[in-house]
Amino acid sequence: MKDTAIIGNSSYAKSGGRLGGMSAAGVDPHPLTGELFVSPVPPGTGWPDDPADAATPVAQSAADVHALATSAHSLDELNARISVCRACPRLVEWRESVATTGRRASYAHEPYWGRPAASFGDPDAEVLIVGLAPAANGANRTGRMFTGDRSGDWLYAGLFRAGFASQATSVAAGDGLELKNCRIAAAVRCAPPANKPTTAEKATCAPWLDRDLEFAEPRLRSILALGLIGWDAAIGAARRRGWHIPSPKPRFTHGAEAMLTTASGRPIRLVGSYHVSQQNTFTGKLTEAMFDEVLARL
Ligand code: SF4
Repeated sequence: MKDTAIIGNSSYAKSGGRLGGMSAAGVDPHPLTGELFVSPVPPGTGWPDDPADAATPVAQSAADVHALATSAHSLDELNARISVCRACPRLVEWRESVATTGRRASYAHEPYWGRPAASFGDPDAEVLIVGLAPAANGANRTGRMFTGDRSGDWLYAGLFRAGFASQATSVAAGDGLELKNCRIAAAVRCAPPANKPTTAEKATCAPWLDRDLEFAEPRLRSILALGLIGWDAAIGAARRRGWHIPSPKPRFTHGAEAMLTTASGRPIRLVGSYHVSQQNTFTGKLTEAMFDEVLARL
């Protein structure tokens, strides 16, 4: 990928939400606040919990992602930088085309976030959940991990039962949901076509997760990986952090468990779960009882 200059996004904000030559799809009211937004949502324009503003530097390449992730001084700064990233051309095009011309009919008159989803939850959490990527009409619409789709309904209901979430529903950013002792990150922060990021896109996005893990590490007790991609991303990030990973590499399956060891010698439990996608929960491949059982081990 080309290594272009890292720029702030004030021109993006001033452009009224037109990015990369795409037209904004009009102005629509946020479903909770009623405030009007263009789509994709320009940083710092009042979207609930938007971590970025017009001065947040924008990664335009894999090299930029690495530089901006490693130089982020705090989780807030990291989240801001993630939320404006443009390093993967295919994913930027996809997330913004869904946000403008490709909306689901039932959300046609809602604004779409159309940007990467930052991590969500307790900044001092002992438990980190690593998902796959935002859903095109879920987090890509609402701007918050697993929010506004059936996967999120299912995940947050489970987290509520386990005491990690303040409520069982997750409708939109600004709905009052808080996570307790738990934070949700992902292998890839932009919605990918068919939920399938490429190997190169996973590699480009990895430094964001690496830094997320670094911020979490001092208090971390366990990691829940959702699906094989989440499992591989968590192990990859841990390996790059210098943790000891059992050999042979632990294999993913639902309920799999491995003990990883940080570079300072602290054990961290890695637990796997089938992803909370509708494909798994509607078919009964993943049941509430199965999910509750893995949550109880964190
Ligand atoms: S997938 Fe990750 S690296 Fe690629 S554009 Fe989105 S946030 Fe940036």
